[in-house]
Amino acid sequence: MALTKSSACLEEAELQALIMRLVDAPEHADNPMREPLLRLVKHCEGQRERLERLVRISDGYHSISRDQRLSLAEQYDKQLRRLEKLARISDRYQNSLRELSEALKDSASHDPLTGLDNRRALTERLREESERATRKHQAYALSILDVDRFKLINDRFGHDIGDKALCAISDAIRGSLREYDACGRWGGEEFLILLPETASEYASQVIERVRAAIAQIRIDVQESALPPITASFGLTLYRPGESFSDTISRADTLLRVAKAQGRNRVIVD
Ligand code: GH3
Ligand code: MG
Ligand code: MG
Repeated sequence: MALTKSSACLEEAELQALIMRLVDAPEHADNPMREPLLRLVKHCEGQRERLERLVRISDGYHSISRDQRLSLAEQYDKQLRRLEKLARISDRYQNSLRELSEALKDSASHDPLTGLDNRRALTERLREESERATRKHQAYALSILDVDRFKLINDRFGHDIGDKALCAISDAIRGSLREYDACGRWGGEEFLILLPETASEYASQVIERVRAAIAQIRIDVQESALPPITASFGLTLYRPGESFSDTISRADTLLRVAKAQGRNRVIVD
């Protein structure tokens, strides 16, 4: 509420001016009402000044509290914006942490070149399958394959083409298996295939299919054609109760036999 000259104030000022004119007039110098009137005017002035002071204080109080209310609201908005920004940063941070931990988890179990399971993941799977097979008195089929004369491919066409061939081989293996079969890169140009709950005859058919798929790979290279890629395989069945490293050794020995017999073949036992 601002201090304004209301009509009542104007009236009062006019009345006061009139009284003062009458009191100051020489013909009223001896009027007995002069003294009390002067005192009344002075008293009124005092009252008015006091009132004006009160109004000023009240106006000031209102404007301070309005300013305080405004700045409190502004401070609240500012804090809210700051919190929202912090929440966004924290969300981004958590997302990148999650992505990082997923990438770490993935790289711990996958081969970076082919995307297949790595040796560690395969070993884990072998342990699980061996336990299950022993419990159920069942077999699983295990095959190890080694790419034939791979060193020649690297030497003649370069390491990048060698890498491309390894990726094509991993696609051919994956494409020839069932969803619940497992395969992975065992090392260098060696791959391991695990066929759960599979009898010997059917396992031979599947691994023969893998061999044929690899032999059909065609890789374009500038000016000269890449000779057919082949691989040799050792295939055996897990014997319930044995250690899976025994199964691997047996498959490895059969693979060496396949190499010795001329490569590009599957030897089963
Ligand atoms: P064999 O038929 O007797 O198996 O002959 P090989 O030439 O395949 O065998 P060797 O063990 O002599 O050579 C394997 C080659 O595989 C040598 C190595 O440089 C290559 N190699 C292993 N890992 C990779 C890889 O990730 N990328 C490429 N480009 N080459 C690899
Ligand atoms: Mg090898
Ligand atoms: Mg080889």
